[in-house]
Amino acid sequence: MKYDYLIVGAGLFGSVCAQKLKEAGNKVLVIDKRPNIAGNVYTEKIEGIHVHKYGAHIFHTNLKEVWEYVNRFAEFNRFTNSPVANYKGELYSLPFNMYTFNKMWGVVTPQEAADKIAEQRKEITGEPKNLEEQAISLVGRDIYEKLIKGYTEKQWGRDCKELPAFIIKRLPVRLTFDNNYFNALYQGIPVGGYTKMVANMLDGIEVLLNTDYFDRKAEFDAMAEHVIYTGPIDAYFNYELGYLQYRSVRFENELLDQPSFQGNAAVNYTDRETPWTRIIEHKWFEFGKDDDGNDIPKTIISKEYSSEWKFGDEPYYPVNDELNTKLYQEYKKKADEEEKILFGGRLAEYKYYDMDMVIDSALRLCKEIIA
Ligand code: FAD
Ligand code: UDP
Repeated sequence: MKYDYLIVGAGLFGSVCAQKLKEAGNKVLVIDKRPNIAGNVYTEKIEGIHVHKYGAHIFHTNLKEVWEYVNRFAEFNRFTNSPVANYKGELYSLPFNMYTFNKMWGVVTPQEAADKIAEQRKEITGEPKNLEEQAISLVGRDIYEKLIKGYTEKQWGRDCKELPAFIIKRLPVRLTFDNNYFNALYQGIPVGGYTKMVANMLDGIEVLLNTDYFDRKAEFDAMAEHVIYTGPIDAYFNYELGYLQYRSVRFENELLDQPSFQGNAAVNYTDRETPWTRIIEHKWFEFGKDDDGNDIPKTIISKEYSSEWKFGDEPYYPVNDELNTKLYQEYKKKADEEEKILFGGRLAEYKYYDMDMVIDSALRLCKEIIA
């Protein structure tokens, strides 16, 4: 056979596998149906700005091995994510911390904030059963109503009572003055964009773009000993057990002839009425400078509109509720029976993975394969 591995998908999972397997002496072919590498972390340079085309991506991790790995392929800048929440024109700091509590309640000390939360959390008795209960139990009803409910219902298209509690546990709650959105040891944005980082991973590896695996599956399978598939697991089985649900996102991009629109990379619109969830102003991921360190006179913003995925849309967020989890388990059983195909990544594992977890999972898979 011509190749040891065919890798379907040039996103992070596929690219890390390709890099590791090639390094171990395998012949690898990567294919992707999109016209670009890097999957959802793809960035494109427009007017000197690295635009995150499939949604804003901030790299953050506690995994030293993953951090050292990505640093082989890119230099990371010191960007720290500190989004601002805009609730009907009132601005609040995120994640929930002393700046947020001070603005919401006028409290000044951590004890005052803790007391306020304790008083509001009393309405929840027992283990929180859904996102609403979890949120109130973490930060109280006032913050839930102004900063969580509207945003979450727009983002997920579902009532907060129908969503799993774990989604909101991703956000830190701090009784300190710290606007860092992530509890991570390492954080930053790759200098020169994510596409460059992934291109460095794929250096010397054959890549075919605009190539859908399912258009010529038998032909591709015959080319390689093994296949690593990183597309949606239900698509692999031609949706025979039914569709897994996803949330999709539509991005409305605008190039503005002004140096700044909102003065921050991310502003979340947490009311229910504003149709978009957030606005990203891409230049602030790199402090408003181009690759040569010059101030950029223009700016590019993206409004994000969340929608239910339907056939033909780009799947973004898996909806990890009970029904979908059950359906995924059924697909997983079928996947385990496939002999030469390995399934990995956010879509094939139907998991709400951050980039570092995807990379970690790919590194583990390759360790197993190579050992
Ligand atoms: P993908 O990037 O989706 O790659 C899969 C690839 O497979 C795609 O390129 C696709 O075109 C290709 N493919 C699928 N089917 C086929 C087929 N039939 N034939 C050929 N190719 C195919 N993580 C963070 O750590 N920080 C963040 O700030 C962050 N922000 C995010 C924002 C948004 C809007 C979203 C949706 C996700 C965010 N993530 C973030 C998560 C991050 O995007 C993922 O963890 C990561 O990109 C997943 O990599 P992957 O390789 O598994 O999947
Ligand atoms: N969230 C919220 N208000 C915000 C930001 C986030 O209620 O201003 C909730 C929302 O339910 C979201 C979850 O917190 O799905 C996790 O947020 P995160 O920013 O981690 O989501 P991501 O877009 O990275 O998946």
